[in-house]
Amino acid sequence: MLQINNLVVEIEGKRILNGLDLSVKAGEVAAIMGPNGSGKSTLSYVIAGKEEYEVLDGEILVDGENILELEPNERAARGVFLAFQYPLEIPGVSTMTFLKAIMNAQRKAREEAELTTPEFMKRVKAAAQELHIDQEMLRRGLNVGFSGGEKKRMEILQMALLEPRFCILDETDSGLDIDALKIVAEGVNTLRDPARAFLVITHYQRLLNHIVPDTVHVMANGRIVRSGGKELALELEASGYADYREQAA
Ligand code: ADP
Ligand code: MG
Ligand code: MG
Repeated sequence: MLQINNLVVEIEGKRILNGLDLSVKAGEVAAIMGPNGSGKSTLSYVIAGKEEYEVLDGEILVDGENILELEPNERAARGVFLAFQYPLEIPGVSTMTFLKAIMNAQRKAREEAELTTPEFMKRVKAAAQELHIDQEMLRRGLNVGFSGGEKKRMEILQMALLEPRFCILDETDSGLDIDALKIVAEGVNTLRDPARAFLVITHYQRLLNHIVPDTVHVMANGRIVRSGGKELALELEASGYADYREQAA
């Protein structure tokens, strides 16, 4: 489903991704682990299409199509979804209004009819209930006054509603207590599907006890330096990243 070949990316003249190769199959949950500053967030932003990054070489194929030439909304329409490490707060826009806007924007890009209000309400209520999100939260400004855990659950709610094919979670576990972490993990596990793939980016092994990955990739200095099964996460927890940093350097 996702195939990245020799991705080279700079920001402000600084090389961040350095010939990165990665492939993720449909149905797979792939974890990316690595030290701070290794380029994990940069990779997720470049896949989602955030501007300021300069792609110097390589390609990102989604279902065989190179998405590097596409706008972020066109990538989203093809099912790419990025859950942010630090979700934005939007005062003055109710969460409900925001959710309806993103769902209809995606439908428009896919040339599907707008959702009727009753249909939209039905879907939001069902998804919110499944993720233990209070209806009252949906009437508040997007993420305004939400706790860290509530913001992350809101990201998973967006993911559930958009039914993406390829989901990237960038350190969705940071700042979560164990209960919030379990709810997020449960949400992701519910969405696991043979037609859908996940890239779960995390610095710590903890999240991977709850979202058990099929594959684990270690990133250091802007490239994938080792790949393995779920046991690799446990090994990293014990040994740390020091060896990989040296190896990559
Ligand atoms: P990670 O998510 O693995 O911690 P990042 O992708 O956030 O790593 O960052 C990788 C490197 O790129 C870091 O050295 C960081 O300082 C640098 N970097 C990221 N964004 C920018 C930016 N907007 N301007 C300059 N340097 C940046
Ligand atoms: Mg970081
Ligand atoms: Mg990061």
